[in-house]
Amino acid sequence: MTTSEPEELPSRSGSVPLAVPDLGEAEMAAVVSALRSGFVSSVGPAVEDFEQAVCSLTGSRFAVACSSGSAALHVAARVAGVCGGTEVLVSDFTFIGSVNPVRYLGAEPVLVDSEQQTWNIDPSLVIEELHRRARSGIPQPAAVIVVHIFGQPAKLAPILEVAALYGVPVIEDAAESLGARWVGGPLAGRQTGSAGTLGVYSFNGNKVVTCGGGGMVVTDDDRLAAHARHLTQQAKVAGVGYLHDEVGYNYRLTNLSAALGKAQLGRIQSFLVAKQNIAARYDVAFQDLPLHRPTEPDWSASSNWLYSVLAPSRDLKDRLLVDLHEQGVEARPLWRPLHAQPPYAGCRRLGGDVADGLFERGLSLPSSVGLDDQDQQRVIKVVRSFFSRTQRASP
Ligand SMILES: *Cc1c(COP(=O)(O)O)cnc(C)c1O
Repeated sequence: MTTSEPEELPSRSGSVPLAVPDLGEAEMAAVVSALRSGFVSSVGPAVEDFEQAVCSLTGSRFAVACSSGSAALHVAARVAGVCGGTEVLVSDFTFIGSVNPVRYLGAEPVLVDSEQQTWNIDPSLVIEELHRRARSGIPQPAAVIVVHIFGQPAKLAPILEVAALYGVPVIEDAAESLGARWVGGPLAGRQTGSAGTLGVYSFNGNKVVTCGGGGMVVTDDDRLAAHARHLTQQAKVAGVGYLHDEVGYNYRLTNLSAALGKAQLGRIQSFLVAKQNIAARYDVAFQDLPLHRPTEPDWSASSNWLYSVLAPSRDLKDRLLVDLHEQGVEARPLWRPLHAQPPYAGCRRLGGDVADGLFERGLSLPSSVGLDDQDQQRVIKVVRSFFSRTQRASP
């Protein structure tokens, strides 16, 4: 269920999990009905229904269902023009799934540091780099990948503006931010994932909405959508016997998974409210503790995918994680920056050490949509008693 996630502590019985899905009667009925229909693989009505439902939610014109968020990003990057010999600007502070497709395509990532307010890619670093390349006659990157980390919308508008000036496609990795929106500024009213050239969602088991495993590419561009769809189905030319006009992938989502995803998507508004309430309760409970969490900007509405905070130091973060684990609470450090991952250690980097600081001091706490008050109080108690002990120990 959470196979793509590193840093995972083993789950124990009686533990409070980090992020597990809420699967109810609607999901059971949808999957059984898909089974009864006989359509279990990628042909079947639920796949298109799910795509339509994602279009309605996000406001995107086209959606292409894929077998994972990683597959969706691979296809999105390829149709955007990422290929051997090109470069791609990508957030440094993210899950490794945001960047692997760049290398699948033989391209070279350039890792861009975060800004403090949203923990997302620093727009001024991206803008400066695009202008610099233009001035110096250096080829522009084939794409910019902007991640909305932990569900918090990035400062995308200024990036879109300058990228458009130079014809650089912008891909939103909205794997963690389905349902998150901009509510102020130039993108007010838009859903994350729907504002760039292409956007990508994940329906992995720990994401806001799950279909077991799956992903989606969205775009308003009919040509890009058609190409993405073609690539997910082995680039098979319709109506001609087994003709494949380019190298494609077997990336189409199955009908069974799509049925589950569509049923889950029908409940997304209640999931978003639940996550917002969980975050608000943690905020209140930790008000007087030395935990830092940026206040959410008034121009965005996060999906609150994983409630995350910064401890005062690396040492306190490490000790708090141990305490939580010993008390049966699944907490996790924040993403290790890509530049600290062996395959990406040699990449060019833009910016400073914001991402390093987030990794050193940050942790995520249980944020499942089904987290009940009793379990949340258990988490809060462990955190509060940790700080009351450490503060007594160091007057
Ligand atoms: C989960 C995730 C992905 C990958 O999605 P999968 O469906 O697990 O392949 C990509 N990027 C980010 C930021 C993610 O959190």
